[in-house]
Amino acid sequence: MSDLSKIRNIGITAHIDAGKTTTTERILYYTGVSHKIGEVHEGNTTTDYMEQERERGITITSAAVTCEWKDHRINIIDTPGHIDFNIEVNRSLRVLDGAIFIIEGVAGVQPQSETNWRLADRYNVPRIIFINKLDRTGADFYRAFDTLKEKLDIVALPLQLPIGAEENFLGVVDLVEMKAIIWEGGELGAKFHDEEIPADLKEKAAEARQVLLDTALAVDDAGMEEYFENGDVSVETLKRAIKKGTISGAFRPVLCGTAFKNKGVQPLLDGVLDYLPAPIDVEGIRVAPPEDAGDEVDEKALEVIPVDPDGKFAGLAFKIINDKYGTLTFVRVYRGVLKSGDQVMNTTKGHKERVGRMFQMHADKRQEVKEVHAGDIAAFVGLKDTGTGDTLADAADPVVLERMAFPVPVIDIS
Ligand code: GDP
Repeated sequence: MSDLSKIRNIGITAHIDAGKTTTTERILYYTGVSHKIGEVHEGNTTTDYMEQERERGITITSAAVTCEWKDHRINIIDTPGHIDFNIEVNRSLRVLDGAIFIIEGVAGVQPQSETNWRLADRYNVPRIIFINKLDRTGADFYRAFDTLKEKLDIVALPLQLPIGAEENFLGVVDLVEMKAIIWEGGELGAKFHDEEIPADLKEKAAEARQVLLDTALAVDDAGMEEYFENGDVSVETLKRAIKKGTISGAFRPVLCGTAFKNKGVQPLLDGVLDYLPAPIDVEGIRVAPPEDAGDEVDEKALEVIPVDPDGKFAGLAFKIINDKYGTLTFVRVYRGVLKSGDQVMNTTKGHKERVGRMFQMHADKRQEVKEVHAGDIAAFVGLKDTGTGDTLADAADPVVLERMAFPVPVIDIS
């Protein structure tokens, strides 16, 4: 896929137990279903599907998995959640263009979520927030929402309000399109439909939408003008404004649902497409500081290599996995095109490498690809001496991208 506007490289971060695994599984399920409609699930119960997923879970969540949603490609890059893995979180955050930040509806923001949030701040990762587990006894959207403001000190901006609570959580009011989305039942693949906003929520929804308009349009002059002329704005304008504010970090959009009961995941996927940046919407990656720069590097002063499909190839190895097929080196491509069989420089270490086969990992298969483009993520086979954080680049422009501050061990799951 060379239309960069249709790629999203995202991570999902959460406090342990907030529902990262469940949400990722649901995303893979829904994107798989939509991708191969009518093909996979005949004679195959959804439970079987999930069990198989679980068996493969380590592969699915261990590095990067590719899925398709509404004609876009979403690469989900694993960002380990546990506090002991902060170095790893740190490393993977560099190759993300955006993230889903999950908190849960009972406890709200927890200490480890705060740590992860600050790290994501450091790399300016645009985020949308998902308040999960709204079906649980004791879950309260509004209380969880308040912890976002109190503990993270952010402008949290609801794009949805919950309809019902705990075991009666039915769906959400979509404040962008001003409609209710209701799920029929809580099983995988449950149908959902649009409805009028329930009478008892109309006033609250109108107020919340006004806050949404005021906050989002403040970062979009053309949108503000449209608002003054017409007293409202089109859905397209509002989405553009929300995306702008999300990327700049002016505010943090909040969505909600329950991954486990299968409510809210499809709108969350829509949110990824609507509000998180494509590779071309972000600034790119900085070059590595000079060898003798020491610890006090002014990161902002380093040259930025923009994501460029037409430039000389450059990519960053961000994870190495040894599985039964051998060593897989996961690479985020920032510039140019690379074909399998090509030779590249490992500019970090100063030697040449030949790239063997290249794969994109899907939930149910690994798909071989013959070339990768700027913006892509792929797993390379056949690299002999490339470590996490190394840059691979065309020898004609041997740039060194910023590397990680710490050596990171190879993960062995064979
Ligand atoms: P992770 O540690 O963030 O990956 O969290 P998991 O996805 O493994 O979820 C932790 C536990 O919470 C599991 O027992 C899940 O079944 C449960 N869980 C996840 N999402 C929800 C939800 O929306 N509602 C409820 N009631 N339980 C959930």
